[in-house]
Amino acid sequence: MRILIRNGTVIDTHPAVAVLGELDVLVDGERIVAVGKDLNAGGDWEAGGDVEVIDATGRLVLPGFVDSHRHTWQAAYRAIVADGDIQDYFRTVLGELAPSVTPDDVYAGNLAGARECLDAGITTLLDWTQVAHTPDHADALVAGLRESGIRAVLGYNPQDPGEEVRRVRDTHFRTPGRLSMAIAALGPEIAGEERALWEWRLARDLDLRVTVHAGSQGAEGARRALEFLQGNGLLERPTTYIHGVDYTGDDLKLIADTGGSVSVSPVDEPALGIGYPITGRAAASGAPVSLSADTVTCGPGDMFSLMRAAFAMERGLGNLAFTTRDVLRMATLGGAQTVGLGDSVGSLTPGKQADLVLLRTGTPGMAGTRDPIGAIVLNADTSAVETVLVAGRVVKRAGALVAV
Ligand SMILES: [Zn+2]
Repeated sequence: MRILIRNGTVIDTHPAVAVLGELDVLVDGERIVAVGKDLNAGGDWEAGGDVEVIDATGRLVLPGFVDSHRHTWQAAYRAIVADGDIQDYFRTVLGELAPSVTPDDVYAGNLAGARECLDAGITTLLDWTQVAHTPDHADALVAGLRESGIRAVLGYNPQDPGEEVRRVRDTHFRTPGRLSMAIAALGPEIAGEERALWEWRLARDLDLRVTVHAGSQGAEGARRALEFLQGNGLLERPTTYIHGVDYTGDDLKLIADTGGSVSVSPVDEPALGIGYPITGRAAASGAPVSLSADTVTCGPGDMFSLMRAAFAMERGLGNLAFTTRDVLRMATLGGAQTVGLGDSVGSLTPGKQADLVLLRTGTPGMAGTRDPIGAIVLNADTSAVETVLVAGRVVKRAGALVAV
């Protein structure tokens, strides 16, 4: 099956974020095969027909957004800690709700949360799960993601002795596809050094990436944790550091030099009192930087809100060199690189997976757009998301999610 997306205003992110002009995008199966002017879907295709043409006139066409860290199961508890702080979040969400959820609950939460993402043009999600209490819970979390149609990395939080993590990997992730897996580590700052050693060694043994909430328990502990991991030879394992509000420039340089990446949650970090987003400082280190919703219990679930928050807060520090292009890159290619999928998604490079978003420009909130990239970051919202493709499959069409 081929899909020809015709005559959209194409915005790509590689090698730089740029408006390429009014072009076509040709998709064959799961992949983008060409971006250019007046593309032909191929003689046989055009004549005989196994090609769908999507008229993108007046639309913006861009890579799907990537959310590099979300506790997706919490979709069922939206805004439950609005106006709370991080202690309220720990007490209510992790202390009371998390221990009580059933496999059915987490299946529904992950399915609903992943569909919320797709509706908003987020085509790749790192699901940082905290509720894989039993094998049934783990299977239900994966099922919710799989059925939604999204591309996802299951950030799996392993329990000692680690047999279950192997079962989850072997059951659900043996063959490459839309779903993959990472180790969601508690890390030395939260769970202690002994547990962290076990987590990173497990990741190494299973050849998985690591994602960890880090650098937000005080500057001293942040540094000590990095030194501990480095001293034990564990930093060569690709690791994503979430929040990192207490990291110094030296810490961030160490992260960048060891192949690490950073996930900034620009709404809930200030809203819960975790700290000030390090968006610009992290980018200056050279590490891939991405944006994350984290949780809809106290923040928004769409990338437009996250981009606007990151943009405004960074410029609020006086960094007026930080642009809407910088933030759009974080929301797409930066996210893909953060979750280890930079070679397969995050830009419109032919050969990559066809994860695409078409945005309307004729809505009241988008009409009159002069700078398409500026308008995506400053003006767009989920109502502008008209069509969404994941791996060449249409998951949102004409403004409505395709049923699952
Ligand atoms: Zn989190």
